[in-house]
Amino acid sequence: MIEYTNVLTTCPYCGTGCALHLQVLDGQLAGVLPAKGHPISEGGLCIKGWNAHAFVNHADRLQTPLIRKNGELVEASWEEAFTLIAERFGTIKAESGPDSIAVLASAKCTNEENYILQKWSRAVIGTNNIDHCARL
Ligand code: SF4
Repeated sequence: MIEYTNVLTTCPYCGTGCALHLQVLDGQLAGVLPAKGHPISEGGLCIKGWNAHAFVNHADRLQTPLIRKNGELVEASWEEAFTLIAERFGTIKAESGPDSIAVLASAKCTNEENYILQKWSRAVIGTNNIDHCARL
């Protein structure tokens, strides 16, 4: 017997916030259906929303950070990647000043994540050079 469930959630692709149902068959994500009666999407989805399930288990999805070493992208641990990022930001800031760094936030992030990003930009890096892709 096939086990089928619908999971109501919010589309991850942009800041509009359409609602959708993830269709789960035998524990595997199988598709998407729009959510009728939602005040934002009113039962509709754009093409990205209709395909919001496709990337989750896609073979090309990155599963680990990649660091370029000797011209090649090499899998790395998250600790190694974050250490390198912190070192590089520190070097750039020391050599060229905080305003040499700019940050572009994403509509794929939650409001809380975008808030943290602007706080990190201003309080940690020391720059007001932060913008958001929704303004482009
Ligand atoms: S369905 Fe389209 S418009 Fe709605 S949140 Fe997803 S990407 Fe944005």
